[in-house]
Amino acid sequence: TELSKIRNFSIIAHIDHGKSTLADRLIQRTGGLAEREMSAQVLDNMEIEKERGITIKAQTVRLDWKGHVLNLMDTPGHVDFAYEVSRSLAACEGALLVVDAAQGVEAQTLANVYQSIEHDHEIVPVINKIDLPAAEPEKVRAEIEDVIGIDASQAVLASAKSGIGIDEILDAIVERIPAPTGDADAPLKAMLVDSWYDPYLGVVILVRVMAGTLKKGQQIKFMQAGTTHLIDRVGCFRPKIEQLNDLGVGEIGFITAQIKDVAQARVGDTLTDAKRPAAEALPGFKEVQPVVFCGLFPVDANDFEKLRESISKLRLNDASFSFEMETSAALGFGYRCGFLGLLHLEIIQERLTREYDLDLITTAPSVVYQIELTHGGGHIDLHNPADMPEPNKIETISEPWINATIYVPDEYLGSILKLCQDRRGIQKNLTYVGGRAQATYELPLNEVVFDFYDRLKSLSKGYASFDYHQIGYREGDLVKMGILVNEEPVDALSMIVHRSTAEVRGRGMVERLKELIPRHLFKIPIQAAIGGKVIARETISAMRKDVTAKCYGGDATRKRKLLDKQKKGKAKMREYGSVSIPQEAFIAALRMG
Ligand code: GDP
Ligand code: MG
Repeated sequence: TELSKIRNFSIIAHIDHGKSTLADRLIQRTGGLAEREMSAQVLDNMEIEKERGITIKAQTVRLDWKGHVLNLMDTPGHVDFAYEVSRSLAACEGALLVVDAAQGVEAQTLANVYQSIEHDHEIVPVINKIDLPAAEPEKVRAEIEDVIGIDASQAVLASAKSGIGIDEILDAIVERIPAPTGDADAPLKAMLVDSWYDPYLGVVILVRVMAGTLKKGQQIKFMQAGTTHLIDRVGCFRPKIEQLNDLGVGEIGFITAQIKDVAQARVGDTLTDAKRPAAEALPGFKEVQPVVFCGLFPVDANDFEKLRESISKLRLNDASFSFEMETSAALGFGYRCGFLGLLHLEIIQERLTREYDLDLITTAPSVVYQIELTHGGGHIDLHNPADMPEPNKIETISEPWINATIYVPDEYLGSILKLCQDRRGIQKNLTYVGGRAQATYELPLNEVVFDFYDRLKSLSKGYASFDYHQIGYREGDLVKMGILVNEEPVDALSMIVHRSTAEVRGRGMVERLKELIPRHLFKIPIQAAIGGKVIARETISAMRKDVTAKCYGGDATRKRKLLDKQKKGKAKMREYGSVSIPQEAFIAALRMG
């Protein structure tokens, strides 16, 4: 395609503001099909795609509109994938900014729109859901101008659901977003935007050609990875796969090259011609590293093999999470896994539970600490609190910090500010726009990985939104807090905490465990300790042997029920030393941090 006829754009939206619905509408409108035909056809494709596992991930589609080729680039929807988002944006010249006419601008929208502006994008504001009775398009238009600082006078008023404003959006893309530029005769440079594993095609790679041409049968080199591959397929999604002979400069599409492992196809890498290579790679490549770690253990030890298989399968499609085997005295065999962030952790955990039907125990999430050892003993990246060296061997310990932007209606601001303060937050900025506050805080990531997001949502009745990025390591007074049940340390419950919050955390943990661990025939002390020093303690008092005693000899069915219940409970217990700890106790204790 001629460069001047190409438009590459992405859609920026806060979750639920209508990105997917709008994308579907654009596909429908440009496919030139009647709605009924369309839904039948898309559904058919979806079935095939589902069966074959293709393009579920690829929302990136090529659209034809009035003699132009429009490439809609999908971007990952959440904060943990900031780097992937930055590469997707780097592949485009513009963006549709979709804002819900009833909700207004949210934190996630802000973070993405600023990134988009940094990439010199032309931004086309779309005020969506104008069909809603609660829609206030003019208020939202003013908010876009006030908060984001871009001209919204030309914002398109739309309803993706009812199909209002769709043609105007397509026209605006052609008229306002610039065509890509690039040298068609220069050596090939294509940016790897995304990759995923398809069971039939192998690894599928999404690319944006920046210079030269990508052809079927071409020998290409990955400049960062240093590997060479033969391209066996070139194509685009409409959203159905369409095979092509080549992708010219400025174009977006996919290739396959008999690659078996997504880890070989890293986002941000530069593809060039092996015989006529470019002098230098495209800028902006970054090696992504997991930042949040936790242990995953099967509730039933017999499921370990199943867990191993399931994790390996997930990893086929996601090279950004890591795993290695771990053993725990309390939990048996499992895996220590690394994630890009908390939400990433939750996605993987949820998929293991739902898609692979696994019952899992997750240990307390931990960030990566940097430790300098005494006497020039070197440096450690600590991923697991269990591996923490003795305090006298530690010269300094540092933890990662983040910059967080929180957007919240005024009425909940007080409790949100308190939450941030309790989590060692440093306020950087606080501004108000139309009944809502925007607070910027620096926070230790450690204080956020436990339950910060849940707390934020519950304190604001779901109205607060949150976005963050890492800002580097800072030294801190950090200590390992151990939990002892009946005088024995439970490794899965140990965590690294700031000394100033240790007592509160420790107290919370022992109090919860007291509730969660059933009584035994003997007294059980539960302690939180730093080194040899106990900082919190509770005792579970002993119980009488006959559990049915409290039925006062009465009702026989009730008695039997109680015994059954006890038997069932036993199956799910983990014997720990001489104490049985129910699985729920671990899960519940860890859930609260
Ligand atoms: P995404 O998270 O940004 O991809 O949002 P979705 O496209 O999944 O939409 C979120 C919800 O908003 C869905 O229930 C949609 O049906 C609904 N929705 C999307 N666009 C509109 C619209 O224009 N009007 C109304 N009333 N609802 C919409
Ligand atoms: Mg969506």
